[in-house]
Amino acid sequence: MPGATQLVLATANAGKAEEIAAVLGERFDLLPRPDGLAEVVEDGETLEANARLKAAAVCDASGCAAVADDTGLEVAALDGRPGVRSARYAGEDAVAADNVAKLLDELATTPEGERRARFRTVVLARYPDGAEVVAEGSVEGVIATEPRGTGGFGYDPVFVPDGSGGRTFAEMAPEEKNAVSHRGRALRALAERLASA
Ligand code: IMP
Repeated sequence: MPGATQLVLATANAGKAEEIAAVLGERFDLLPRPDGLAEVVEDGETLEANARLKAAAVCDASGCAAVADDTGLEVAALDGRPGVRSARYAGEDAVAADNVAKLLDELATTPEGERRARFRTVVLARYPDGAEVVAEGSVEGVIATEPRGTGGFGYDPVFVPDGSGGRTFAEMAPEEKNAVSHRGRALRALAERLASA
């Protein structure tokens, strides 16, 4: 893509990378996360702090502008947990199935009408001179009582966005998820800010 601005992806998560490419791929020359880069310890107190840690690490290592996102699932009945700890909800080495199982377990006695939740994403582009552009996106919905669907990743099989006719993100086509998702919204906001920066 001659002339397009280069942005290195800070994520190694294939699901995220595909969603980022679907929104930013038209306007930016997206480069994969450099091989052999150590995993970043995401010990920030906020989504923005973690997005900054990831983008800065990749920007410093590559010498190019980098884009990172950090996402949290905020469940009303759990006072906003797991939030910034969503990746490690079920433990330091938790995989998605562990996190989903723990979530369903914690909500086992929570009635259908009280399972409101929100996904929130902060995306951050970081430049070698230290400049940053930040954007946020969120989507409201409910936590299903059991996992459904095979698409997406992470908590997608148990998140039912409002207006989806009861389908989880994992039951939606990728472009349908991107059209309403926390990440899709955050990325579109970022693209607008980058275009006018
Ligand atoms: P992180 O942004 O990679 O730290 O993600 C935090 C946690 O949320 C991880 O467990 C991810 O699998 C999960 N997650 C991030 N984005 C999504 C999404 O779009 N759908 C479902 N789960 C997600």
